[in-house]
Amino acid sequence: MSGTRHKVFLITGVSSGFGQSFARAALDAGHTVIGTVRSEEAREAFTRQHPTLAHGVVLDVTDFEAIPSVVARAQEAVGPVDVLVNNAGYGHEGTLEESPLEDLRRQFDVNVFGAVAMIKAVLPGMRQRRAGNIVNVTSMGGFITLPGISYYCGSKFALEGISEALAQEVKDFGIRVTAIAPGSFRTDWAGRSMVRANRSVADYDALFDPIRKARQEKSGRQAGDPARAARILLEVVEAEAPPVHLLLGTDALRLVRTKLDRLSEEIAAWEAVTRSTDFD
Ligand code: NAP
Repeated sequence: MSGTRHKVFLITGVSSGFGQSFARAALDAGHTVIGTVRSEEAREAFTRQHPTLAHGVVLDVTDFEAIPSVVARAQEAVGPVDVLVNNAGYGHEGTLEESPLEDLRRQFDVNVFGAVAMIKAVLPGMRQRRAGNIVNVTSMGGFITLPGISYYCGSKFALEGISEALAQEVKDFGIRVTAIAPGSFRTDWAGRSMVRANRSVADYDALFDPIRKARQEKSGRQAGDPARAARILLEVVEAEAPPVHLLLGTDALRLVRTKLDRLSEEIAAWEAVTRSTDFD
């Protein structure tokens, strides 16, 4: 290990994409990784990655009752978690009108409630030890929005907001919270993992069909490299003062900057109205 202290990482969703790359980079750097997966086969495959440092555990992050005991058992086996990476998540694609409410619940259960349940499982220990990093993988979709992914953006906006408020609550306990917001990266996100709502309202054809087609065509050819993101993750957890929000990818940078500029312009344009509602 090159000058950095050995750490215990707990990373959710290490079977593919970012989670797999994050785990690989942490193991290569000599850290211990507790990696969550959703099948016994995947658990065995993950544990085979390193004879002593890789610990696969089977956990669906929506199994809220199981999370505390699974995390406690893992910590008993390998030691207290220094770094929690809430990576597990998926994208729901479909216009709001065509997407059942149940899909919204599932999207929030995985992307928001699952992440918070994981945080609750490690936070008491981190607080007692006065140390720890919590990294939540959000998305540029936690800042900008696109038609056809309102449920996904809603969940990532929620996780951005939760991360930012939590960062302030736990700062004085030596716990650092970072929301990492990637742009488009080459993972299984837009492929096998995406939940696509059935089409039912022809009025949305002109707007939505090209969006769905473009996303399918781009899958596997996105500009973002998860291995590079993983190197950044290791830098973030070693940093003296890690960022609360970190964008990854040139697309995220461009789109989020444009959004923030437009938001500032709109706030300025309506400033007089905004100022008019206080009591005298
Ligand atoms: P991915 O290759 O599809 O990986 C998703 C991982 O999450 C898989 O390991 C999957 O496990 C796991 N997972 C999904 N639902 C789960 C659940 N209920 N419980 C436990 N694990 C679950 O996609 P990815 O891009 O690496 O996604 C990782 C994170 O990055 C997600 O939060 C995603 O929203 C975010 N993100 C991705 C991009 C992008 O362009 N790729 C951009 C911004 C943000 P299984 O193998 O069992 O399905």
